[in-house]
Amino acid sequence: MALLHERLVPVHDEVVRRNPGEHEFHQATREVLESLGPVVAKHPEYADSEVISRLCEPERQIIFRVPWVDDSGRVQLNRGFRVEFNSALGPYKGGLRFHPSVYLGIVKFLGFEQIFKNSLSGMPIGGGKGGSDFDPKGRSDAEVMRFCQSFMTELYRHIGEYTDVPAGDTGVGARELGYLFGQYKRITNRYESGVLTGKGLTWGGSQVRTEATGYGTVFFVQEMLHARGESLEGRRVVISGSGNVAIYAAEKVRELGGTVIAVSDSGGYVIEDSGIDLELLKDVKLSRRGRIETYTQERGNGARFVATGSIWDVPCDVALPCATQNELDGTHAQTLIRNGCSVVAEGANMPSTPDAVKAFQEAGLLFAPGKAANAGGVATSALEMQQNASRDSWNFAYTEERLRMIMLDIHDRCLTTADEFGTPGNYVAGANIGGFTRVADAMLAFGVV
Ligand code: GLU
Repeated sequence: MALLHERLVPVHDEVVRRNPGEHEFHQATREVLESLGPVVAKHPEYADSEVISRLCEPERQIIFRVPWVDDSGRVQLNRGFRVEFNSALGPYKGGLRFHPSVYLGIVKFLGFEQIFKNSLSGMPIGGGKGGSDFDPKGRSDAEVMRFCQSFMTELYRHIGEYTDVPAGDTGVGARELGYLFGQYKRITNRYESGVLTGKGLTWGGSQVRTEATGYGTVFFVQEMLHARGESLEGRRVVISGSGNVAIYAAEKVRELGGTVIAVSDSGGYVIEDSGIDLELLKDVKLSRRGRIETYTQERGNGARFVATGSIWDVPCDVALPCATQNELDGTHAQTLIRNGCSVVAEGANMPSTPDAVKAFQEAGLLFAPGKAANAGGVATSALEMQQNASRDSWNFAYTEERLRMIMLDIHDRCLTTADEFGTPGNYVAGANIGGFTRVADAMLAFGVV
């Protein structure tokens, strides 16, 4: 682990003391604090005002019971969360994750990251996150609907277009958002489009929102390569995951001339040297909610399913971790480096462990942290809010161009900030510091908040 500036050691100690057992949250805060040393050295007022300690403490944390009835008539119980982390730049903004691994520490790490990501995007949105330990896998549509209705029956009192605007994340897509929005509308008797983002296109959603996180990640990669006079043309790309982020990252890679040779899910991964068949992958994973193994069987010759080991064993030029937190560790990083990988960009939130990030940086790879590389999703959510507020809807090409410009700006801000604070080319420092200063300056302007 890198050293912390002496003024930041007590901040980190306090985070660990106040939030026992929340390892992912400790990891996420430590990673940002490690970047802030040069900022505190140059501007001690950030430490004097305790603005950094205040940033590490959520403004509000909500935990609630979610009872629902399954298809056999039995009562089921889950726990719901919404962490309203920081509203200095706008209403709390961030997704909802439904996955059995969800507990307060996961929601807090995601909410904390969201503050910096959202700030870095330049859009007027604060940071938050929520979710539940509910597992949608294997549940019928009717069960998912009853769960979502119960979840919203509690959540609705805490959210609103000027207060807190949830969206999707792992396990929460168009189906879940439909049930959630329908219930919110019914309880409040208001057609408040801007209360949720990621909505369907016929009821207030934005073009490109579904594709935005994946497309944005690849726009960011393209910019990193351009800055070195290179491009994606002819590159072999490995992408973990096979949800929205991974699939639309793959689509944009293909459009820009790269070849996606492997994708994965929790059951294993598929390798295909000539390139994954995206239409079939979408059909199996998104339409049928099926498995990568099924994709491999239906695809036949040329596609090989691997159930053991790791997708990071596959030699590639570009690696895009788009599955989940801490999926890529120090050993995986060494394998990627040894096999000649030269670019890693995080489509997921915190998929690389601190050891992996250190290895990439020491080996001189281009490494883009999720706060920068996957900000396109939430940035397009902000574009959705903008369309809802003006009762307008933009076409695909225009919205995609707005997304592309936002990713270019984020890339620029990362590099300029990294230069300014003496760590040229370090996208981690650039993203953390660039995201931090906007929020911190707003908080200082507000007084002690
Ligand atoms: N869940 C996404 C993220 O991690 C998007 C959140 C949103 O659109 O509000 O950034």
